[in-house]
Amino acid sequence: MQLIDGKQIALQVHAETRSAVQALKARGIVPGLAVVLVGDDPASRSYVRSKDKMSHELGIHSAKHELPATTTQEELIALVEKLNADPAIHGILVQSPPPPHIDEAAVIRAIDPRKDVDGFHPVNVAKLALDDPSGFVPCTPLGCQRLLLASGIDPAGKHAVVIGRSMIVGKPMALLLMAKGKGGDATVTVVHSRSRNLAELTRQADILVAAIGRPGFVKAGHVREGAVVIDVGINRVEDPTAAKGYRIVGDVAFEEVAPKCSAITPVPGGVGPMTIAMLMANTVKACRQISGV
Ligand code: NDP
Repeated sequence: MQLIDGKQIALQVHAETRSAVQALKARGIVPGLAVVLVGDDPASRSYVRSKDKMSHELGIHSAKHELPATTTQEELIALVEKLNADPAIHGILVQSPPPPHIDEAAVIRAIDPRKDVDGFHPVNVAKLALDDPSGFVPCTPLGCQRLLLASGIDPAGKHAVVIGRSMIVGKPMALLLMAKGKGGDATVTVVHSRSRNLAELTRQADILVAAIGRPGFVKAGHVREGAVVIDVGINRVEDPTAAKGYRIVGDVAFEEVAPKCSAITPVPGGVGPMTIAMLMANTVKACRQISGV
């Protein structure tokens, strides 16, 4: 059984990003990423801090905007429009979820699609469906695809089953795996909470991607012998023995599933580190496209 080391593969992506940043700097161009946080949700705050820190480490100009929870929709969209017009900024990300009075879809639509490094804008969703490589693909599924390729697992011709159909993970994951060309060409099945005989379907998977949000949902009985399992889940479960009182577990019951797999991602240390790595890579891509280099 191969343990897919997301930390190590993320380091490879960071190395590529760092040298791309240096090449841009040699031409007088500095990629810039703006990260906007509204409110003080602790998990969101920590994600924003990591993105800011990673930008600095890779030589990307980082603009962190922390707005109070009382920020109005109009104020937030006004900031997005300012960032759209700012030539020092190539990527814009509004940390999800915003407070409930904000219409997240409207904010995403306000982002210039050329700067939408999260890949959530309808133009980028369409580009993914159209196999248009100029678009931005959401970072988590893009990271999962990279994990497969870096581990020598070619999805071509294989049966991939994706559990979950969110716009952030499941749906773009399915589109990526079925796209024509490298990292795609799989036969894809998507299952979700309304699927009948879910385990029967997941047992057919050569590659099983779990993006459900339920700790340990995928059991040995869901997985066929020799399958590749990618666990996207990040779930906090109480653990009085842990310093923080909780620990992070995936959507896969790792202990019972791993022995059946040919390859599997751990949680933490699997998909997690890839999401931020692909965000940085998307920022460099946006910078190149906007600067025409
Ligand atoms: P969502 O809640 O948006 O989607 C979950 C999906 O799982 C839905 O499609 C839902 O079905 C399906 N689902 C829920 N319960 C069941 C069930 N009992 N049987 C079958 N399907 C079910 O979550 P996300 O896609 O945003 O995230 C999924 C997981 O990935 C979470 O643990 C999240 O924390 C993690 N995540 C990790 C990231 C990373 O960087 N590693 C980034 C983003 C997310 P239905 O549509 O019918 O409701």
